[in-house]
Amino acid sequence: MKLHTINTGLFKLDGGAMFGVVPKAIWQKTNPADANNLCTWAMRCLLIEEGNQLILVDTGIGNKQDEKFFSHYYLHGDDSLEKSLAQLGFGTADITDVFLTHLHFDHVGGAVIRDGDQLKPAFSRATYWSNEKHWQWAITPNAREKASFLKENILPLQESGQLKFVAEQENITWQKDISISFAYGHTDAMMLPKMSYKGKTIVYMADLLPSVGHLPLPYVMAYDMFPLKTLNEKQAFLEEAVNNNYILYLEHDPVNECCTLQRTEKGIRVAETFKLSEI
Ligand SMILES: [Zn+2]
Repeated sequence: MKLHTINTGLFKLDGGAMFGVVPKAIWQKTNPADANNLCTWAMRCLLIEEGNQLILVDTGIGNKQDEKFFSHYYLHGDDSLEKSLAQLGFGTADITDVFLTHLHFDHVGGAVIRDGDQLKPAFSRATYWSNEKHWQWAITPNAREKASFLKENILPLQESGQLKFVAEQENITWQKDISISFAYGHTDAMMLPKMSYKGKTIVYMADLLPSVGHLPLPYVMAYDMFPLKTLNEKQAFLEEAVNNNYILYLEHDPVNECCTLQRTEKGIRVAETFKLSEI
């Protein structure tokens, strides 16, 4: 197996929403906010080369929404999904599988492109992976989460016939050396891929742990549908991770790609941070 970081650019989100009940006086020390109270976040996807498969985990925000939509998110940085794939010598038609941790727009936006007045999958040959529970949740959204589930990111995948569902079963083996964990606090049935890689275990954290700044237990995003569930899931995961020396791959951390953990007097905290390419 080979793993590659796929940077798809940076965006901004409200710092208060990202840190939930934690006061700004505290979070701004590590995540400085701009004049509009916004902080910068990454949309860091992952490419997995395994045998004949080329698997993309998440797709970033994409480029098909209108200017007004994008104006809320202050997209910046030089990276894009296509550019990052091209730098590795791959085109969109080379991707065999697109694994979607969940269907919020900053994870699934790049999965669908606009072609004239048509919407179609960005990866023409790929199988797209979600799970039935999350899919149902996303296509019949509650009012609080509705703004995150854009139908133009989701429905074309089903219409294309390229969509498949992972069975919802904790730690299910999905592919060789890749198993899937499920989390229910951020949204219903978010999926976290866990890879065996170079003798280590590396976990794609999606929105269970957006950044190293979210390691302390009460640092739960206000975006989460069920914050106490996230708290419990995060606590259980961090115990498992520190006991087994996992490497955490951080989708939204603006600076750190990967980290390891250690126990401290305050709780489980970061040990080292590094790039995926340094493993
Ligand atoms: Zn996200």
